[in-house]
Amino acid sequence: MKTQKIALITGGSKGIGKAIALELAKEQYTVWLNYLTDHNGAKETQNIIEQNGGSCKLLPFDVSNLGECQQSLSHLLEEETPFALINNAGFSRDGILAMMSEEDWTKVINVHLNGFYNLTATVLPFMLRKRRGRIVNISSTSGETGVGGQVNYSAAKAGLIGATRSLAVEVAKRNILVNAVAPGFIDTEMTKNLPKEQILPSIPLGRFGTPEEVAQVVAFLCSEKNSYLTGQVLSVNGGIYT
Ligand code: NAP
Repeated sequence: MKTQKIALITGGSKGIGKAIALELAKEQYTVWLNYLTDHNGAKETQNIIEQNGGSCKLLPFDVSNLGECQQSLSHLLEEETPFALINNAGFSRDGILAMMSEEDWTKVINVHLNGFYNLTATVLPFMLRKRRGRIVNISSTSGETGVGGQVNYSAAKAGLIGATRSLAVEVAKRNILVNAVAPGFIDTEMTKNLPKEQILPSIPLGRFGTPEEVAQVVAFLCSEKNSYLTGQVLSVNGGIYT
């Protein structure tokens, strides 16, 4: 039976965001799918959802731009409120800090950390009024432990963990649960150029994870089965000790 629940997922044209969108659509969510440039990828996600009887609205905008977020969402939010918000959009610009340009620092902080603020501050007032909701922030192993060459990305992803914990405290009384998922190495475009053979020995399960393996954890956090888990970080990393 269909429910009216809506999930807003950022960065859903490919990779982990696409897998989350497909998984939540299977769970009968109507999907609001954000992405930035990959219209074909977003359209493909939408097609799969619709072919399976679901519903998916495409929302192209830059999560690091508050004005764009508000402009794309405000008219929709006047009508309906997402039950779940998944802050997933992002990219990395790796390099050692001594050589890092201000642009690479700022862009990475903007997409992950300001992106979290821009989306959450736009949607949260509506969720608060409904007195229910789930927010899941996609962090990273890099936000839990030190990774050389990723000072910008680690700072952003660790910041997301702090934001998750504090927001969970703020909104618990309104029955809104806020958690983070910290993937390790997952097979997506973001990791396709990494030296896999060098990395695999560091992963106890001996392989990269799949986007679907992350999506299933996100789906659990968004489900009614999760009623007492908030302010936590679930590490989906094949056993890498963080
Ligand atoms: P991906 O395959 O490269 O997909 C990234 C998605 O983010 C795309 O849909 C992209 O949209 C979107 N995006 C990028 N910048 C955006 C912006 N400014 N506004 C709106 N959308 C934007 O990456 P992924 O591996 O699935 O990563 C998804 C999330 O998981 C990221 O936050 C990443 O940091 C995190 N993560 C990934 C791994 C991993 O091993 N893959 C590990 C830990 C954490 P377009 O393509 O349409 O431009």
